[in-house]
This record gives sequence, structure tokens and C-alpha cells, in this order.
Amino acid sequence: MSYKAHHERSIKDPDGFWGEQAQLIHWEKPFDKVLNYNNPPFAKWFEGGLTNLCYNAVDRHLKDRPDQIALVAVSTETNQEKTYTFKELYEEVNRMAAIYKANGIQKGDRVLIYMPMIAEACFAMLACARIGAIHSVVFGGFASHSLASRIDDAKPKLIVTAEAGARGGKAVPYKPLLDEAITLAEYKPAKVLIVNRGLTEFTTVAGRDLDYATERQKHLNDVVPVEWVDATHPSYILYTSGTTGKPKGVQRDTGGYAVALAASMKHIFTGNPGETMFCTSDIGWVVGHSYIIYAPLLSGMATIMYEGTPLRPDAGIWWELVDKYKVSVMFSAPTAVRVLKKQDPSFLTKHDLSKLRALFLAGEPLDEPTASWIHGAINKPIVDNYWQTETGWPMLAIQRGVEVMPHKFGSPGVPSFGYNMKLLDDATSEELGPDQKGVIAIEGPLPPGCMQTVWGDDKRFVSTYWETIPGKLIYSTFDWGIKDKDGYFFILGRTDDVINVAGHRLGTREIEESISSHPNISEVAVVGIEDKLKGQAAIAFVIPKDASNIATLEAECMKTVDTTLGAIARPGRVYIVTALPKTRSGKIVRRALQAVAEGRDPGDISTMDDQTVLAQIKTIIEQSAKA
Ligand code: ATP
Ligand code: MG
Repeated sequence: MSYKAHHERSIKDPDGFWGEQAQLIHWEKPFDKVLNYNNPPFAKWFEGGLTNLCYNAVDRHLKDRPDQIALVAVSTETNQEKTYTFKELYEEVNRMAAIYKANGIQKGDRVLIYMPMIAEACFAMLACARIGAIHSVVFGGFASHSLASRIDDAKPKLIVTAEAGARGGKAVPYKPLLDEAITLAEYKPAKVLIVNRGLTEFTTVAGRDLDYATERQKHLNDVVPVEWVDATHPSYILYTSGTTGKPKGVQRDTGGYAVALAASMKHIFTGNPGETMFCTSDIGWVVGHSYIIYAPLLSGMATIMYEGTPLRPDAGIWWELVDKYKVSVMFSAPTAVRVLKKQDPSFLTKHDLSKLRALFLAGEPLDEPTASWIHGAINKPIVDNYWQTETGWPMLAIQRGVEVMPHKFGSPGVPSFGYNMKLLDDATSEELGPDQKGVIAIEGPLPPGCMQTVWGDDKRFVSTYWETIPGKLIYSTFDWGIKDKDGYFFILGRTDDVINVAGHRLGTREIEESISSHPNISEVAVVGIEDKLKGQAAIAFVIPKDASNIATLEAECMKTVDTTLGAIARPGRVYIVTALPKTRSGKIVRRALQAVAEGRDPGDISTMDDQTVLAQIKTIIEQSAKA
């Protein structure tokens, strides 16, 4: 079937289309109805059906592939590498679920998971799914403050953690951060389960803290029956990255998510049972939830969990793993590729990548130089795909399992099945034609797998996402884009990043692209700040490639913008910095940059790294104001 016919059917006949996709997973009791959209924008998929994510990811494979590898846990930080077959994974998940049960965790209870990339984190997530508990994974490395606000929002009975993570050869203590977060939080979890990796010393709280190894030993042979849950039962809460605003607790269902992921593996990622997927993200992000844990396992594939940087022991480590575990589907982020790009290219050609079918990249815009470089280096299709924590799986992608359409540089492709994507004028709500800039929106119902609501706040779900485009109930992505005549979308940046300079609307991303065409620019971020005269002004932060050659760099960057976009887009200042505040998935935390540039307190900055980087930038701004 052509892409066009496939997509059209998914929109015009959702019952037929998704009813078929639903056969990719196991239903303990079939659903009564594919879609209930009687109460827009709340979509209920597969109502009446009973299923379980853990059963589909693990138990279901015990019959056909019990001894096949399900999970590979590699740490180049602790030099450990361990594999688990589906049978072994089943046993570990049962032990974890038994620990939960023994501590009173029941269906619907929340379990917060604050862990590094170790196998136990995978067990912890799957064990929640097994008993119908709702997990909320918080990225390890978030500071106490961010963690505390998530504890207060999710109200977990239990927190699963490890005493430390590790990065770049150094232990990163988690336990003290967690203790501080629990002190800061109003809500107090009853229990904390700690995986002691032996990396750092830590203190425990009697009556609250449990040692995982001890508890596991008590439940070595326990079997915990699967809790069959309604398709609409929440499987997890995951907070957005918070790069533009206060993090929102995205709530996801069970049945719709399982179906969407299985369908995405077939039509977009083209992974098959028995193959291996390697997703280099972190379980703290949505990409990790979907493509490290659930999608590969649901599809009977082995998955690799990797703790470490792409550069240790050397820049060939990822490709060595691709070779060793015969990875067929790899998923990473442009930021990681940019890191590799600075290394000797021979690291990429040393290993056998013959099983690798494609490299998928998402999370932030994929610029042409990065895409061309990695394509040239590994000689595999590079598949940019665009999505959000809210959607759970790609909204835009070339769907290679349906039709291998040509890729266009700078475009994540065309709408995925089930997504009725529109480009709208944010003022008039009118649908725009080819090559006109507008807000990327999705006509409801959102397809299976997308967020059900904001955790505990249906009103916020509706007002935040569905009521921003005047006169229309339509989901806004808050991204700004353009669609060409062939239906390919291009992402121009966040709607917040559209600045209005003396009446002209400009995307900060356009200005960034212009500046990055300067040969001495390695990275750039542009934000709009308040300007008394012009309303708003663009301010740029640049990292030079050659830091010894920057005397006239500010003026040169301005000139580059003048010639490519026009003087109207010229940033008011170009600050030369050494690092930018970023989430680990590579997103620049613009609201923090903007705050610092406006002389405000950046507030709830998520990671410890960011705090240091922002302090440096603040000094640079202050010094340049004095000069
Ligand atoms: P918050 O919503 O709290 O501000 P966030 O939007 O950064 O946080 P995520 O859900 O992790 O949190 O990020 C989704 C966003 O990442 C998208 O809305 C888009 O702006 C950007 N993005 C993701 N993939 C791509 C891509 N392939 N190309 C361009 N941008 C992308
Ligand atoms: Mg967002």
C-alpha cells in the first residue's frame, strides 16, 4: 500500500485501521469498541478490552523465544555487561513485582523511578505494568528541587532508586538528592527501594528505606500474576522536559500505547522479532520509555540499555555494540551525532554495521551538516522523526515499513498514520497552504498512544493543549512549521520562540541556522528577550569552533544574519560562550537562557550541569555589560 493510501485510511476509517493494528498485541478480553470519541478531546481507545503491557512485553514471548536475549545492559562506567533472556527477564520482573506487592503497592498506585540506566530500572518499570501500578520515571540527575515537585504531583507510595549513577567515569550520588527531595516535598512516600551498586556510601532511613538485594532474595521464586487492566487504565506519568514551561505530567493509557508502539515498530522502525534495537536515549525521557523499554520488547526484539557516554572507552563504542549485538534498528539524537562528529571518523568504519537497517534521530532539529555527515559515515538511511512526550511516538516520519519515500534534508517527513496534522495560522485559525508558516496542530482524536490527559488535571489538558487556537478545539504542538507542496513538514521552532521584532515575525531557529552557517560556529542558541523599543529583540549565544579567533566574531555573526535573513533579524547581541544549558537529550533550555539574558532568576532548572553553565553565561553577560 502506498503511504498516501495507508495514511488516508488511518484518518478516514480509524475503526478499521486501528482495529487491525490492535491484532499486533495480546488481548485477554477483546475490546468492545475501537474508538470512543463522545467526549472530545478525550479519546478512549479500545474500550472494554483487557490487556497488560508487561504481559505483552515479556510473558507473551515465553512460548516462542524464552532463551532469546531480551535485554542487554551495558555500562561503560562500571565496565559491566549483562544479558537477560526473556525467561530471565520474566523472573526478575516477577521478583520486583513481588517486592512491590509485599510493600502494599496495588493497581493504580504510583511508583516513582529515579534511576540510572541499569537493568533494575527496566525491571522496575515492567513490574509496575505487571500489577497495574503507574510508574513515573524521573530522569536520574535531576536536582532535588525538580524531583520534589514531581513527587508532590505524582504522590508515589514507593520510590525505586539506586544510590548512584555514573557519568564520564565518576559516580553521581543519587541517594542524597533523593533524601533532600523527600525533605523538600510536602508528600512523603512510604518506602524507598534502593539498588546498592557499591559506587558510593549513603545513609538510610530506618523503616522507610529497603535494600533491593535483600528484598529480591526474599522473593527469588515468587510468581506474581498479571493484573489484566482496561485498555484505558493509565500505564504511566511522564513529565515533559520543561524546556519552555513548567513540566506537565503526561498520562498515558495501556492498550492504545501498546498498539501504537507495535504499529510504529512495524511501519516506521521496521524492527522484527528476534532482532536487536539500540536506542541511546535514557529511560527518563519519552524516547526511552517507548523505544528502550516497551516497543522493542512488545515486538519480541532484544533491547540495549546503555550507561555511559558515546566516547568512552573510545568513540567507537556504540558501533562496537551495533556489531556485537547485530543491531538492526538504532535510535539516537542529533546532539549525540554532533558529539561523534568531533571525533576521528575511522571509529565508525571499524565495525561491522551490516545488520543495521537505519539510524533514527529525534528530539531536536536535525541540521543538514549533521545529517550529511552521519549518512556519509555509516552509509545507512538517516530517519529524522518528530514527536513529543505528549504523543509517545512519532508524529512525522518517513514510514519505511509502508513506503520508502525520499528523504528531504531538514524535514522529519510526513504525518504518521493516525495523525491528522494541520498547519494553521495562529491568529485566524485558517489552514495554510504550501510554504506558509504556521502552528503545527493535530485534529482530534489523537491517535492511540498519545497522552490521555494531564495527570490529575483534565482542565489543564484542555486549556493547555486544545484551546490555544481561536475558535477551534484542536491540539497544538506549540511548534511552528511549514509544509511543502509534497506534504513534507519542516519544523521552524517553538511557537514561544517566534519573536516579534518591530512587527516582523521571526523564528529563532531561522536565525540560528543563519548564524551556524558561519564557518567558526560550532553551536548556537537564539532567544527573544524584551526590548523597550522593538517589543522583542533576538539575542544569540554562540560556541566558536576555534576559540582563539573570536575578536570580530560578534560582528561577523550579525553580518551573516544581515545577508541571509535581512537586518531586521539581526540579533542585538551575540555572546560568545563555552557551553549551553541543555537537557541530556540535547534540547537547549531556552527559558533559562532567556531568563538569564533578561537578568531574571532562571528558577527551576532541572539538571545540575545546567546550573554551572548558566552561572558562567551570567558572568559573561555581566562582564560584557561592564565592558
Ligand atoms: P516542555 O513541553 O515542557 O517545554 P519539551 O517540549 O522540550 O518540554 P519534549 O516533549 O521532550 O519536551 O520535546 C518535544 C519537542 O522537541 C517538540 O515539540 C519539538 O519542539 C522538539 N523536537 C522533537 N523532535 C524533533 C525533530 N525531529 N525536529 C525538530 N524538533 C523536534
Ligand atoms: Mg513540549
